[in-house]
This record gives sequence, C-alpha cells and structure tokens, in this order.
Amino acid sequence: MGEEISNKQVILKNYVETSLKESDMSLRTSKIQLKIPSGCDGAVLVKNLYLSCDPFIINRMKKREVYIASYTPDSLITGYGVSKVLDSSHPNFKTGELVWGFTSWEEYSLIKDPNIFLTGWQEHSIIKDPKLLLKVQDKDLPLSYYTGILGMPGMTAYVGFFEFCSPKKGETVYVSAASGAVGQLVGQFAKTAGCYVVGSAGSKEKVDILKNKFGFDEAFNYKEERDYNAALKRHFPDGIDIYFENVGGKMLEAALSNMRLHGRVAVCGMISQYSLEQPEGVHNLLNLLTKRIRMEGYIVSDHYHLYPKFLEMVVPLIKEEKITYVEDIAEGIESAPGALVGLYSGRNVGKQVVVVARE
Ligand code: NAP
Repeated sequence: MGEEISNKQVILKNYVETSLKESDMSLRTSKIQLKIPSGCDGAVLVKNLYLSCDPFIINRMKKREVYIASYTPDSLITGYGVSKVLDSSHPNFKTGELVWGFTSWEEYSLIKDPNIFLTGWQEHSIIKDPKLLLKVQDKDLPLSYYTGILGMPGMTAYVGFFEFCSPKKGETVYVSAASGAVGQLVGQFAKTAGCYVVGSAGSKEKVDILKNKFGFDEAFNYKEERDYNAALKRHFPDGIDIYFENVGGKMLEAALSNMRLHGRVAVCGMISQYSLEQPEGVHNLLNLLTKRIRMEGYIVSDHYHLYPKFLEMVVPLIKEEKITYVEDIAEGIESAPGALVGLYSGRNVGKQVVVVARE
C-alpha cells in the first residue's frame, strides 16, 4: 500500500450559462495514494507542477458541447499541464520523468491509459475524452514553457500562421489578442518571416510589450478605439494580407473590411463570443467573395503530427534569443479559478500559468 496523502482539487460546480465566475468552481480536498493501484495497467501517477489556463476551458463548462466534451458538474476540471511521474505502469513512462499534456486540476493525478500518439484527433467531430501525454524534450528551457511556447499554444501559433496563412516576405499581418499565449508568438513568427505586423490588445501595458518586447511594428489598444474599422485603416492604409483571428465579432468584421485581394484569415479563436448568450453576427462576408479571401478555422490537436517539426524550429529560436515569451504566473492551485476567470476580461499579461508545485 502506498502512502495516502491529501490532494487539493478544482471542481466545476455547475454548468456555466454565460460568463464564468470564480464561484462556478470550488476547491475540495480528497485523498490519493502515491502508488498506482493494483490492476491499473497502463496508468501514470503524476505530481502536477504547472497547469495551463486556456480560453477553450469555458466552452467545456457549458452544457452544449462544441468540439470537445463538456465537463459534468461536480467533476474535476481537466486541461493541459506539466507534471512529474511519481509511479508508472505504462511502458512509455518511468518514475522521475517530466511530462506534459492532459492532466486534471489537482495536486496529484492518476492518468489512466494516456494517449502517447500525436495523430488520430481528426476523426472526432467532438473529442470525447481528450488525452495526450508526451515527455518533456528539452530540460534546459523553463518547464512552464510546455504550457505555452513549447506546448499547445506554441503549436497553435505555428500551425495557424505557417500552415494556414502561407506568409510571404513583405506581407502585412494583423493579430488580435496579440499579447496572449498564442498571439505574442504569431507576431514574432511573422517578424521572422519578414512581414509587417500590427497587434491589438486591451491595455497600454500590453501595447508597450507588443512593440518593445515582441517587436511588433505597431500596436493599438482596441478598448480605446470607438471604430475598429477606422483603427485598422489607420494601421493598414494598403490593407491586410493575413488576419490571425483570436477574437471574433466586431473585430472580425472590421478585419474583413480591411483585407486585401487574396488575403488569408486563420480562424484560431473567437474569445469575444465565448461568454455571450447570443453570438454576434458578422455582416460583411461578401468580402470573402469579392476579395477572394481564404478564411479557415482549425483545431490545433488535428495537427499534432507537426509537433516534432515545430520543436525543431522553435527551440533554436528561443535558445538564440530570437524570440521571447511572456508568462503570467499565478501561485498555488487555490489561485487557478481566479486565473482562469481573468482570461475572459484580459487580466492576464502573457500566457496564464498556475504553479501547483515547483520541481
Ligand atoms: P490569451 O490571449 O493568452 O488570453 C485571452 C486574451 O483574450 C485576454 O488576455 C484578453 O486580452 C483577450 N480577450 C478576452 N476577452 C476579450 C474580448 N471580449 N474581446 C477581445 N479580446 C478579449 O489566450 P490564448 O491562449 O492566446 O488564446 C487566444 C485565442 O486562441 C482564443 O480565442 C483561444 O480560444 C484560441 N485558441 C485556439 C486554439 C485552436 O486550436 N484553434 C488553440 C488555442 C487557443 P486583451 O487584454 O487583449 O483583451
């Protein structure tokens, strides 16, 4: 019998109707044995070190499923994280190894039957039980990066920008929610591709970071603009070749009006719509036709087979300090509900990470 110790957990209390509140979640303490239970072959017992707050989580808290199964009330929140293996009955993992992928919002997790494959996600219109567990490849870089630049958000920026936007040197790129986990990388990737990049974000501090830390050519605070269309005209007098869409709604409408002929729109996310009861309409889709725009949505998990290629590109860029990454660190699992809620009002500056324990 292994030692039984207490295990703090974050629970979804009830389905979320519109916007998320901290009181929709609660903390509870249960018990766990730090040993794989007998008869539990192919499982991994981990100590969670970093949890990732990601915008898609609110969609899993709603009753109506979108592309990934909803949580059930009174159950644990699950999501991406970085963990250390304490015990394993899985041939691929050994005690002491560091891993990243799907875990639960608790101090220790028993991950049964983890998916170690990078393919096979595309076959599901609703991903029922998302699972992924990969070994941390490069231990010289901060471990928390596997919730961000070296993990799912990094892949999202890479796939969306390089695979869906087909950038060419000298093109103009607009990134919304540009200072966040994904956006800050898209902007920096666009600079490495020789593009002219403008980002929008929701505060003066974020705008300064976009220009002075990430090297965006220009940036603006969308909360200070009464007319997004006019703001984009000011920044892109000759139009936008590539719009990296993170926000949706009125911002998408304004971007479409400012696209150039043969422009590309990678639909990565629409965070402005996730808390609305009634999504806003977009009234100028005719631009797609008249300007021959290619607009395409994607889900990063369908493209994980590109992860090794992505690491090959991004790790040297980080090590040579050609790109940088800003994280917003919340300390302790107790801070997880507040940190998650903050995403939907822009309280985070950079990738929102929750530290559960340091290695
Ligand atoms: P993030 O940008 O680190 O955090 C969310 C940011 O969104 C906030 O900081 C806030 O920044 C902005 N925001 C919140 N509410 C907004 C609103 N009503 N209008 C405009 N901006 C708002 O998040 P992320 O992880 O990088 O994700 C960015 C987008 O990518 C999200 O839409 C997410 O759903 C999507 N995503 C998609 C995939 C995929 O597979 N397709 C994977 C990962 C993420 P401001 O201060 O600038 O408002």
